[in-house]
Amino acid sequence: MEKSTVEKFASELNLPIDLLLKQLESAGIKKTSGTEELLEEDKSALLNYLQIEHGASSTSKNKITLTRKQNTQIRKTDSEGRARTIQVEVRKKRTIVKPDQKKQVQDDLIKKDTSVMDKKTVDDKNQKEIREEEEKRNAALMAAQAEEVKNKKSAKENEKEKEKESKDGTLHRPASKANVKVDKDSKKTELKDKWVDKNLKKRPIKTRNDNNKGWRSPKNKNKNKEEGEDQNFVAPSEPLVKDVLIPETISVADLAHKMAVKATEVIKTLMGMGMMVTINQVLDQDTAIIVVEEMGHKPEAAKENDLESFLDEESSSVNEIIEPRPPVVTVMGHVDHGKTSLLDYIRTTKVTKGEAGGITQHIGAYHVETSKGMITFLDTPGHEAFSAMRARGAKATDIVILVVAVDDGVMPQTIEAINHSKAAGVPLIVAINKIDKPDSNPEKVRGELLGHEVIPEELGGDSMFIEVSAQTGQGIDNLLDAILLQAEVLELKAPINTPAKGIIVEGRLDKGRGPVTTLLVQSGTINISDTLLAGNASGKIRGMLDENGKNIKQATPSIPAEIIGLSDVPNAGDEFIVINDEKKAREIALFRQGKFRDVKLAKQQASKLENIMDQMTEAEVKFLPLIIKADVQGSCQALAGSLEKLSTDEVKVKVVHSAVGAINESDINLASASNAVIIAFNVRSSGGARKLGESLDIDVRYYSVIYEAIDEVKAALGGLLSPEQKEVTLGMVEIRDIFKASKVGTIAGCFVLEGVIKKGSNIRLLRDGAVIYEGQLDSLKRFKDDVKEVKSNFECGISIKNFDDLQVNDKLEAYEHVQVARKL
Ligand code: GDP
Repeated sequence: MEKSTVEKFASELNLPIDLLLKQLESAGIKKTSGTEELLEEDKSALLNYLQIEHGASSTSKNKITLTRKQNTQIRKTDSEGRARTIQVEVRKKRTIVKPDQKKQVQDDLIKKDTSVMDKKTVDDKNQKEIREEEEKRNAALMAAQAEEVKNKKSAKENEKEKEKESKDGTLHRPASKANVKVDKDSKKTELKDKWVDKNLKKRPIKTRNDNNKGWRSPKNKNKNKEEGEDQNFVAPSEPLVKDVLIPETISVADLAHKMAVKATEVIKTLMGMGMMVTINQVLDQDTAIIVVEEMGHKPEAAKENDLESFLDEESSSVNEIIEPRPPVVTVMGHVDHGKTSLLDYIRTTKVTKGEAGGITQHIGAYHVETSKGMITFLDTPGHEAFSAMRARGAKATDIVILVVAVDDGVMPQTIEAINHSKAAGVPLIVAINKIDKPDSNPEKVRGELLGHEVIPEELGGDSMFIEVSAQTGQGIDNLLDAILLQAEVLELKAPINTPAKGIIVEGRLDKGRGPVTTLLVQSGTINISDTLLAGNASGKIRGMLDENGKNIKQATPSIPAEIIGLSDVPNAGDEFIVINDEKKAREIALFRQGKFRDVKLAKQQASKLENIMDQMTEAEVKFLPLIIKADVQGSCQALAGSLEKLSTDEVKVKVVHSAVGAINESDINLASASNAVIIAFNVRSSGGARKLGESLDIDVRYYSVIYEAIDEVKAALGGLLSPEQKEVTLGMVEIRDIFKASKVGTIAGCFVLEGVIKKGSNIRLLRDGAVIYEGQLDSLKRFKDDVKEVKSNFECGISIKNFDDLQVNDKLEAYEHVQVARKL
């Protein structure tokens, strides 16, 4: 037998010689250099020392595990009479007491080394146990299947080999390989972004070459008889169960790559599940998760819309240069208070012109350069745009300018704007407009705004009040200064040297140029010829213009740009990100076209009154946001007051917005953005709002008795709400004519606007969006015949039980109650 030296032993254990020498010294064995001989006794002494050190039992000293493999062939004739040779691999494992001695030494040495390594060793041990179990199972299976070829000799050989190995102390392979794995793993931990590491470092092309030497191809798992021939089986040494991070979409090739198996294996598994796919086909996350589980790995779903996860590794490793960025401002306020005039005045007087005679175009945003700094205005006035963006989860605005006309004062949309900006947590600057008008009294406006908790700085609040005239330009400079001042307080900053991310401001289809999109960069720098993923659209930027129609090459944070080159028109408020992998961008965009909506809907499912408690425990929502719409101011206030009083220490009821009138689209958007439930008291939704509400799945609850509303919210807060009875709207009917019949009473000639109206349906009579009467249909006729139902776009005759006060243009909402299983 060859002499063993310290050097050799160290290399066997994959440890630095110095470390081993130190260990030996602590164990009382004097060795000064790597070339010195190391005797078996020395090794045992070292092991003993380490075992005592770690409190391990000394009986583990003699434990040894052996794994052996034998290849044999059996010849068989198949169903067609042809002779076939079947390769059979018999793997045997014999554990003599416990894991082998050197592994122990090695583990102990590593444990002593560093804490990181220590942790990894434990992991490694766990993995080893799993592996051993797996092996046992495989061996048992195979042994059973190939009993006739089992060779008795193998047992003897095992014994011999065991003796030999215990003599020269050779580690069995898994142990030494496992050590390599430890090194690999500890290196891996240094990589901050596990996702990037796994996903983007590798390229799909590698997938196909990347052979499935891995022990875990389904071939091994399911078809034991076929294995062996092309598989030079190596004792399991690779990490057995891979953590596979799965994004929203993944192609079959990429998925195979992540699991280190051939794409055909993935295709086979999918076929087994009844799905015929090609190598380039894109799978959705759920399917991919099932495949990964099926193939014995551990799937991990990437966050929805986790745009970061698509970023290149380089971007995360780049040293970010963070610089101050200009503020982005939205103008809101009541109609006719001068929002458009203000934006126009600033644009025409302040935007630096392009070439002489260059036409300033509306691209949805523009930026202004003043002597004190730059400001970007979103050029779509009104809170609809603002809340529509927020509803998509986008925060585009840093500062809101609330325009209030001095001659008109605070109006409903002013209040709405205040509520919107408060809900978004965006600071307000009040522009009291039209001060050029004679007899203007800004103090009155200040007083009115105070009533809505917009408190001027002079009175200790945090809102600046600036008097302006959008017509004469008076005070506009002060307004710009105020914006810059506020921006300074906000300390707006963004990295400039990373791939760009931001938000879509506007999109339209141009006849000549295709989809034209205005976007606002929020971080990083966008360059011409970058590839974008924007909502459901993707593409390479072919042209980039600024608000003056001038070609630009790049745009930095807070700078708007109009781009062409996207495949589709994205929605305002969609996020965009630069992914310089066109294929990937296209894949995700395509997938989103089908899936995005569902994802959104599923997310919003949470804001239901009935599962508000689950939501609170899950997401730690500590308040219940409500929007209250009522027929008169009195009930609106009463409801808001009573509902807010329901707040407990744990859960606060927060009225995000309350107003008089029918539910409009803006309410739905606000509800969606702030996850609020809408409480409608004696009012209904407008047609558009109902559709939007349905598509965004907003919980709108209609009441005609205040106590019912209070009881339900109370029950919801207690987690006791049982929605056993749910109202389903059947259809909407408009009264076009009234007939009086002496015997029957009043009959309404109606037209079914949408849905269906059924005999005996419950109805609600609406006049100008407010509920006048609730009752039941008495009769439903088409011409002279009684009918069971009338569908949309047909006329019908209707009479209502015990109610005659019908008028032309009234609307009837038909609904029914359905039983819904209670969600726990
Ligand atoms: P918006 O609906 O809020 O966008 O309001 P507009 O910008 O369309 O303005 C409504 C009306 O108010 C227009 O007729 C403007 O000419 C007028 N207006 C806007 N600003 C001023 C102002 O500062 N002074 C005066 N006198 N009229 C103004």
